[in-house]
Amino acid sequence: MPSRDRTPRYLVPFHPKHVPHFFADVLVMGAGLAGLRTALAVRRDLSVLVVTKDGLWQSSSVLAQGGIAGVLSPDDRLQDHVEDTLQAGGSLCDRDVVQQVVHESIERIGELISWGTDFDRAGVRLALAREGGHGRNRIAHARGDATGEEIMRAVINRVVQTPNIETWEDTFTLDLLNHEGTCRGALVWNPRHGKTLVWAKQTVLCTGGAGQLYRETTNPEVATGDGLALAYRAGAELRDLEFMQFHPTVLYIAGSSRHLITEAIRGEGARLVDRHGYRFMPDYDQRAELAPRDVVSRAIVSQMEKTKYPNVYLVLNHLEPGHVLERFPAIVALCRDFDLDVTKDRIPVRPGAHYMVGGVTVDREGRTTLPGLWAVGEVASTGLHGANRLASNSLLEALVFGAHAGVRVSLRASELGDDFHAVPLENRHVEPGSEPLDLADIRNSLKSLLWRNVGVRRDHDGLAEAAANLDHWCRYVLARQFSDPTGWELQNMLCAARLMTRSALARRESRGCHVRTDFPDQDDENWNHHSYCRRDEEA
Ligand SMILES: Cc1cc2nc3c(=O)[nH]c(=O)nc-3n(C[C@H](O)[C@H](O)[C@H](O)COP(=O)(O)OP(=O)(O)OC[C@H]3O[C@@H](n4cnc5c(N)ncnc54)[C@H](O)[C@@H]3O)c2cc1C
Repeated sequence: MPSRDRTPRYLVPFHPKHVPHFFADVLVMGAGLAGLRTALAVRRDLSVLVVTKDGLWQSSSVLAQGGIAGVLSPDDRLQDHVEDTLQAGGSLCDRDVVQQVVHESIERIGELISWGTDFDRAGVRLALAREGGHGRNRIAHARGDATGEEIMRAVINRVVQTPNIETWEDTFTLDLLNHEGTCRGALVWNPRHGKTLVWAKQTVLCTGGAGQLYRETTNPEVATGDGLALAYRAGAELRDLEFMQFHPTVLYIAGSSRHLITEAIRGEGARLVDRHGYRFMPDYDQRAELAPRDVVSRAIVSQMEKTKYPNVYLVLNHLEPGHVLERFPAIVALCRDFDLDVTKDRIPVRPGAHYMVGGVTVDREGRTTLPGLWAVGEVASTGLHGANRLASNSLLEALVFGAHAGVRVSLRASELGDDFHAVPLENRHVEPGSEPLDLADIRNSLKSLLWRNVGVRRDHDGLAEAAANLDHWCRYVLARQFSDPTGWELQNMLCAARLMTRSALARRESRGCHVRTDFPDQDDENWNHHSYCRRDEEA
């Protein structure tokens, strides 16, 4: 990291006399599975405010297809799930965290069922699927490939019926508020009240991932890395931001948005072929289509290069059509919209940015390095995933850490009792002279740059070029003041992209989902550790 970082502390000016104030015992930013599970774990005598920058149904959690991993079959063993997770994590996982999460899987999935989630069944037992990197069938799924939607239906329903939880939709979190080294809430904005100071005894960051920083991604529009940027500006520690996981199979059709094609489809026997119909995965890995995601993503990129073609194909025409139609109804319907019959036609796919493995550093309970601030879900780095995430472990992580953090923040908030009040904070950020900026142009350039230079495979020259471009864009975009979420989101994207690129440049080895073509080997002597970044306090 350079010694001086000129990232302004706040995105917008504010003055306590000119904005409304709101008080809550607990503020949760983000309404995906992590945010809502945390809110549900807060004691019922404490007030919880959940803010989300879009509607309750806009999140990665809702989009999750494959399912949730857990040791749910009598043939499976907790230790096997632990070992598969460690194996995927490229030796950066925290074994205690992995054990904790895996051991709680039965309880947390059982809880979802008791709240009304209707998982698919084979007779009386849960139907369990297999995904890349898992040695057993252990993925519980719902409505075929609509697992996230079904889980979130039950969880949102429960939140709506819980009287101490209030939700504010269309409410953008701008910045965290610190006083004397402690987080005291956040500055938020919505079209109804404008800027509002939300004072909270405990604050929980659950803002999800950053896939929208890339041109090709599975992530929803809301996944712009806001939480990484606002934690960074507030001085919390972040780590391992070079580990962006790419999903190998994202639908690639001109004019369609980039939908993920779940890897459960490969678990059921779908094959990958190139433009000539050649099944190439066995050439790259003996596990063929069931190799871990990063292996499959790299193989696809290599095969695209070899065949000079922008995509490869998934084929299912050797599978029983009735089973395909029943097991993957959403994908079948999606492909049908583009005149593709998945039981006969090839599905064009290529990799896309999928999951931010690194994030805001937290301990076993979800505490960040900034007192009063907690982080749960994709925005956090818990130690579960190490350098690469095992498929379907993230919904589980959100549930386990949400349940723990909710209990812990309740304790801390009650300890503070009534001794809690607003503090005199203001920001007189002054806007420098401004030529109008084409924000959409910068956003698109940023997404293309990251896809090209900080993508599935990286090297020094590409990363250095990306870092120089991002530094330049940051110099004139971060110094500006914007008055709506389009500008703030772009500022957060630039801030997060710069941190991710610098981390990728610094790690001169390949590990997990971070692949450097100029350092193709894992270098345990020098790099068997996390990478950290934190805002320079002198700036
Ligand atoms: C297409 C797809 C399929 C997936 N399939 C699976 C799967 O099968 N199994 C699995 O385990 N994982 C899967 N994942 C990953 C998993 O869904 C996510 O990691 C997980 O849901 C993240 O939950 P979260 O609550 O942390 O974030 P999200 O669910 O993304 O929620 C983030 C929330 O934060 C809000 N937010 C963001 N910025 C701000 C801001 N500035 N102010 C206010 N609110 C903000 C958003 O609006 C949203 O409400 C999948 C992901 C995708 C994209």
